[in-house]
Amino acid sequence: MVSDVSKTHPVQLTVLRAEQVAPSLRRVVLGGDGFSTFLERFEALPQAWTDTYVKLVFRSDGGTYAEPELDLDALEERPVLRTYTIRAVDAEAGEVAIDFVVHGDEGLAGPWAAGVQPGDTIHLRGPNGAYRPLPDADWHLFVGDEAGLPAIAAGIEALPPGARAVAFIEVDGPADEIAFVTRGDVELHWLHRGAAPRGSTTLLDDAVRAWSWWPGRAQAFVHGESALLKSVRPYVLGDRGVARADVSVSAYWRRGETEEGFRVWKSQQTEAVMRPS
Ligand SMILES: Cc1cc2nc3c(=O)[nH]c(=O)nc-3n(C[C@H](O)[C@H](O)[C@H](O)COP(=O)(O)OP(=O)(O)OC[C@H]3O[C@@H](n4cnc5c(N)ncnc54)[C@H](O)[C@@H]3O)c2cc1C
Repeated sequence: MVSDVSKTHPVQLTVLRAEQVAPSLRRVVLGGDGFSTFLERFEALPQAWTDTYVKLVFRSDGGTYAEPELDLDALEERPVLRTYTIRAVDAEAGEVAIDFVVHGDEGLAGPWAAGVQPGDTIHLRGPNGAYRPLPDADWHLFVGDEAGLPAIAAGIEALPPGARAVAFIEVDGPADEIAFVTRGDVELHWLHRGAAPRGSTTLLDDAVRAWSWWPGRAQAFVHGESALLKSVRPYVLGDRGVARADVSVSAYWRRGETEEGFRVWKSQQTEAVMRPS
């Protein structure tokens, strides 16, 4: 069982192809010699999580490591890790798909995905996960932006037949809406931010609060830019009283921060919550 992603030995995968799923999402399909090790770990997860994630390993200049066997502790320069959802695994084809948000030239993972070529390689640590749609929930709520969309899509696609769900997803515009194959009964609300910068609007919070909440036991999956923690999170947990155990909520990124800066911010938030007043 993989319990701590940050401690798993990195496995090297090879880029098989890359394709544009939507203007804002680029899918990189990985496979190659490392696939069987990855699959072993994926299948050893204690549950069929739908938010399975890995840590991608980069050099600080944005490149990746060529050598198949990598001892991260022995490297002279500290590698840089980036967290991404496993969008899909096809065991028969030997393929792992990861959907990357296209967000310009800044950062490592986004620009890497934008420029990858078949044959390029990357190491990843993990996987691990924490959420899957519970069969005994009366209905499911999904809320997120493009970064949360791969996990939301995997969650929606894993719904059992007839399972009721509602999803609020914020994207740039209509061209960024993607199709889902699901046996669930899903009400979809796509919200378009237009020219507004990502992570700057209140569209998700406004839409979720304006929507007529369904009766019964809800299970919620809320992931995207960090503002969701202060807007949708208190609404779901506080105003709507969804049980803590039925809510998966976290920030996946923070506007204006790299993943390192975002991690510092997250630990400060946790400290502030833990500190007695
Ligand atoms: C569990 C988990 C799963 C995740 N799954 C996915 C996934 O499947 N796909 C995905 O694309 N992201 C996902 N993310 C978010 C991703 O890890 C961050 O967006 C990360 O910061 C991207 O790294 P980078 O090297 O491209 O940019 P960084 O170097 O971290 O940041 C550079 C700049 O880009 C900005 N930026 C980062 N992300 C975005 C964005 N989404 N939109 C606009 N600007 C951005 C930053 O604020 C910063 O200004 C996930 C995060 C977590 C914690």
